[in-house]
Amino acid sequence: MLKALLRATRPCPAVCQVCGQWPTQPVCGACVDRFARVRWRCGTCAAPVGQDTGHCGECLTRPVPTPLGRCIAAVDYAYPWDDLIARFKFRDEPGLAGALAERMLTAPGAKDMIADSDWLVPVPLKPQRLTSRGYNQAWELVKALRARLPRAPAGLSDALVRLGNAPDQHSLPRDQRLRNLRGAFAVAPQRVAAMRGKRVLLVDDVSTTGTTLYSAALALKQAGVLQVQGLVIARTLPH
Ligand SMILES: [Zn+2]
Ligand SMILES: [Zn+2]
Repeated sequence: MLKALLRATRPCPAVCQVCGQWPTQPVCGACVDRFARVRWRCGTCAAPVGQDTGHCGECLTRPVPTPLGRCIAAVDYAYPWDDLIARFKFRDEPGLAGALAERMLTAPGAKDMIADSDWLVPVPLKPQRLTSRGYNQAWELVKALRARLPRAPAGLSDALVRLGNAPDQHSLPRDQRLRNLRGAFAVAPQRVAAMRGKRVLLVDDVSTTGTTLYSAALALKQAGVLQVQGLVIARTLPH
């Protein structure tokens, strides 16, 4: 409660959160031009690719059809976005959701992808993580996206639940991540009817290899969702 109160009374930042210039938007135009250049990305996992080839090499080897139709990322998970996302997520600054949602909306195709969906669904946190953090950053992004796009569909914060005690994704090697997440999500029983036959847009902050989105999409498809796509702020760069 106190946390929420402090958050609500925190003044809006008047300086650019990247370069410190003021007065400005939370991320100034010069920093956007410099750090958020649009680049070719894989249509399935949003990894950067050299040219508009449609898919990265890794996605071309995946079995088709995959549960996740398409994924859009606004920026690379690199400076300054990694810092901003860390502040947004780990340092109790949910107010940065607006600036980050604006980046998401500028990604080519993102606005249409949102408008063509029936529901915006945040990737859920594990319950204990939600309790300690006090907010789900993905849900903060859904709210910020909807506030900026009048034609956006409604959000459903409780459509997906996270099951079990799978280890954190970032602690695992790449080849174990998908196995770790198989069966990690389920559609909440009270939301199954609302989801059936609908087009869902999954929203998250960062996609690492796409396995979290893939696993969440699998749960949605198994519950009868017609189409699942993904929208994230940032995609990690392949090593
Ligand atoms: Zn700036
Ligand atoms: Zn890919």
